[in-house]
Amino acid sequence: MYFNLKAVKLSIYRSSFILLLFYLPACDTAEQNVSYEWHGRTMGTTYQVKVTGTTIKKSKYGQLATQIDSALKSVNAKMSTYDPQSEISIINKSRDTGPINVSHSLYTVLEASIDLFNKSEGAFDITVAPLVNLWGFGPEKPENKVPDKTKIEKALLNTGSGNLNLSGQNMIRKKIPGLQIDLSAIAKGYGVDVVTELMELYRFDNYMVEVGGEVRVMGKNAGNVCWKIGIDQPKHASLPGQQLEGVLCLTDVSVATSGDYRNYFYHDGQYFSHTINPDSGYPVNHNLASVTIIAASCMMADGLATATMVMGPDKGFQWIENMAGVEAMLIERLDENNFKVMYTQGFEKYLEKE
Ligand code: ADP
Ligand code: MG
Repeated sequence: MYFNLKAVKLSIYRSSFILLLFYLPACDTAEQNVSYEWHGRTMGTTYQVKVTGTTIKKSKYGQLATQIDSALKSVNAKMSTYDPQSEISIINKSRDTGPINVSHSLYTVLEASIDLFNKSEGAFDITVAPLVNLWGFGPEKPENKVPDKTKIEKALLNTGSGNLNLSGQNMIRKKIPGLQIDLSAIAKGYGVDVVTELMELYRFDNYMVEVGGEVRVMGKNAGNVCWKIGIDQPKHASLPGQQLEGVLCLTDVSVATSGDYRNYFYHDGQYFSHTINPDSGYPVNHNLASVTIIAASCMMADGLATATMVMGPDKGFQWIENMAGVEAMLIERLDENNFKVMYTQGFEKYLEKE
């Protein structure tokens, strides 16, 4: 964490799909805003918060640093499957099928996840946790890269969000003892929304909140224009910002990207990505390489991006096209070096004009 009054010209985020671009006008321009930044680590990745167009005293800056960090620590302590002591890890370890009282924030994310499960006809399914582990994309690291078919079939018996009962008032119930939950596809977006609430509490008009590449922006950036967000070309093993497929010009929205090009392994001439098809138990097997979703809440953008990744290019595109208040950019891989970009109808207005 550090106190930085300077705007950053180009910030390359290491492990995210989205590249954040910050416009820096010439130092003598009157419109240049002071920009305050907070950085740190959370949920196995990094976060970044920026506020512009206001003056923040040093003591308030420090207070905010603590509040942002502890808000994200709290989300992590409830939702991380990598922390064996987290609320979700304790629920996952338990084989109890009786009612469980969970924290309000966990309940909020579980409720949104079940809603997405229903809307996506099962494509978005937080109960894929045992499969995520089998394929080596979770906290457990298996010996074999590609699991045996029998193991996948066995794991499938313990999945299905229909086996998770939410009965209101923060009460949940596992219908089967082996049910486990993985919130990696939605918790980062939720974390962004939580920090956004803090920004609103302080009545900031211009800010950007980012956790692991999922972003929410309000107002304008330090250059007094929209926030610029670069979308990476989804090339396997490429570095963030190496090649952009587009730059977005955003204000008062959230944006999240899911893809197959950063978290994957290559085995016997085949790529296996971290997005699991909950029906088959295997990583998705189509040529959709990345999905970028623009929506009001970052939790929804995050979840919808993963759900669309599961559905694939045709079904996924139609699904988002028919959804009110949500736009998407889908990138199909034609071959290792060639891509096809598709936009839903309302997406174009967010594209930065050359
Ligand atoms: P990232 O974490 O890179 O932002 P996503 O938001 O798409 O990417 O989340 C992918 C993670 O979600 C996987 O690593 C896995 O833990 C989990 N996951 C995989 N398949 C599904 C699925 N069908 N539904 C919900 N979560 C999934
Ligand atoms: Mg997601």
